[in-house]
Amino acid sequence: LVYTDSSPLRRLLHADATLDENGQPIRKKKVVVLGSGWSGYSFLNYLNNPNYDVQVVSPRNFFLFTPLLPSVTNGTVEARSIVEPIRGLMRKKGFEYTEAECVKIDASNKKIHCRSKDGSSLKGTAEFDMDYDILVIAVGAKPNTFNTPGVEEHAYFLKEAEDALNIRHSVIDCFERASLPNLTEEERKKILHFVVVGGGPTGVEFSAELHDFLVDDVAKIYPKVQEFTRITLLEAGDHILNMFDKRITAFAEEKFQRDGIDLKTGSMVVGVTADEISTKERETGKVVSEPYGMVVWSTGIGSRPVIRDFMQQIGQGQRRVLATDEWLRVEGCDSVYALGDTATINQRRVMEDIAAIFSKADKGNTGTLNKKDFNGVVKDICQRYPQVELYLKKNKLKNIAQLLKSANGEDTQVNIEKFKQALSEVDSQMKNLPATAQVASQQGKYLAKCFNQMEKCEKKPEGPLRFRGEGRHRFQPFRYKHFGSFAPLGGEQTAAELPGDWVSIGHSSQWLWYSVYASKLVSWRTRMLVISDWTRRFVFGRDSSS
Ligand code: FAD
Ligand code: MG
Ligand code: MG
Ligand code: MG
Ligand code: MG
Repeated sequence: LVYTDSSPLRRLLHADATLDENGQPIRKKKVVVLGSGWSGYSFLNYLNNPNYDVQVVSPRNFFLFTPLLPSVTNGTVEARSIVEPIRGLMRKKGFEYTEAECVKIDASNKKIHCRSKDGSSLKGTAEFDMDYDILVIAVGAKPNTFNTPGVEEHAYFLKEAEDALNIRHSVIDCFERASLPNLTEEERKKILHFVVVGGGPTGVEFSAELHDFLVDDVAKIYPKVQEFTRITLLEAGDHILNMFDKRITAFAEEKFQRDGIDLKTGSMVVGVTADEISTKERETGKVVSEPYGMVVWSTGIGSRPVIRDFMQQIGQGQRRVLATDEWLRVEGCDSVYALGDTATINQRRVMEDIAAIFSKADKGNTGTLNKKDFNGVVKDICQRYPQVELYLKKNKLKNIAQLLKSANGEDTQVNIEKFKQALSEVDSQMKNLPATAQVASQQGKYLAKCFNQMEKCEKKPEGPLRFRGEGRHRFQPFRYKHFGSFAPLGGEQTAAELPGDWVSIGHSSQWLWYSVYASKLVSWRTRMLVISDWTRRFVFGRDSSS
């Protein structure tokens, strides 16, 4: 047996995956992943393809379990209990990690430009470039201020672990300041006026957590100033939690009223100064200013600057959010994927593709469809265009065949005009997926699965309009599965809206809520820490030192 470079023995002795059929080393494709949040972590967690050289770049060397972030603001849960260091996962998977922020994506040269965190102190070494073959963008989003003056300077955001700690310190600081001697009643009232801007899930949950803290703990710790505290929740729309079922909105609004949280809907914040917050009432157009002690801003998210710049480069400058196709590939450039809060899927309209769909179904090129033709494409249509299923459900139709029947009567021969007519209303049901951890983690898992079988699929490439779902190795488009939405409302009560129009409000949903998110991603270590935090809180109350 001759021991040559390409001998079978050598290939057996050495890691097979690094050599090709001729015994030559394979240059692995370099996958650069930006971000270690819900989508990035989930992608890395499920990625199992030895043919990739994976490099992760994120300014944060941990994954953050955001659903419990509001509980950190009042000390119910410790910040370190809801972070999972990513070094462990990196070691297990053999991936590389660099703690840095990507500040520019150069798609035409397949390069990213990065800056490490303490760039100011380490002059010269803090900036570097990195090449990639494939780029996965999972950088999330940033809080959106809508350019309201004074918000950046004076308000607190609730997005990162340190934000929650800052809020916690600031709340306690307000109570200490308000307890100082020689203050007038007016001054104490001002310092203890907490304003939350934004009636979405985060704003509502934070208000509820703050209220719990005032009722359960402050009454005991700061009894003298408790009477001066006030929470105001400002919402520009007509209702809070408007993405939820009306029953949940109504329950939350009533609960807040009972709790004494001052809920002001229809009032838009137009400016924040060091002492006052100004709102414009929608009905009257009147601007009113009120003194405050602390403002927490939670009105939604916007694109990060690095993404805005990237969008300009690839001809997406006019869009509000970075767009991908249903396979999470960024539109307008090669080998770049985006997932999570950074991007939205640019769902195709049925009406745009209607001719292609029809001719695809019309196998014999007869100009009409019979039942058999039709059955061949129904599944692909539902897969590719989720709005079809939503439309059928809304109109209580079982399948597309029924839809055609309802539009065309008993006529079994369907020509393109009739086909168009039947499907003409379907696109009205299109909607973007919400910016949630649920979507982000499912997208991460989906993309990892695609990457895991990339070689097989590349051998059988099929262009999108020819329905990639064909063939033995399938690359299905991403489909979201909704497990339910949760809105913690304080007092150990959570509202849950589950698939099938099921609404539940109460203590049991609180546990359901946690287990849904915790079950898949977070380690047993963090789960234990959180449960012990809850127990400690239950037994000893919250920690109120700052
Ligand atoms: P993120 O999880 O934000 O991750 C982004 C990652 O990219 C981070 O690691 C960040 O450090 C990194 N990064 C940022 N900039 C760069 C850069 N320039 N270069 C490299 N890396 C970068 N969703 C739910 O479904 N249920 C909930 O109960 C829920 N509660 C929430 C509560 C709060 C307080 C918040 C803020 C969000 C909540 N969400 C919830 C939403 C959920 O957290 C987001 O939808 C989810 O985090 C999006 O995942 P992502 O991977 O896109 O971004
Ligand atoms: Mg991420
Ligand atoms: Mg996260
Ligand atoms: Mg985010
Ligand atoms: Mg998204």
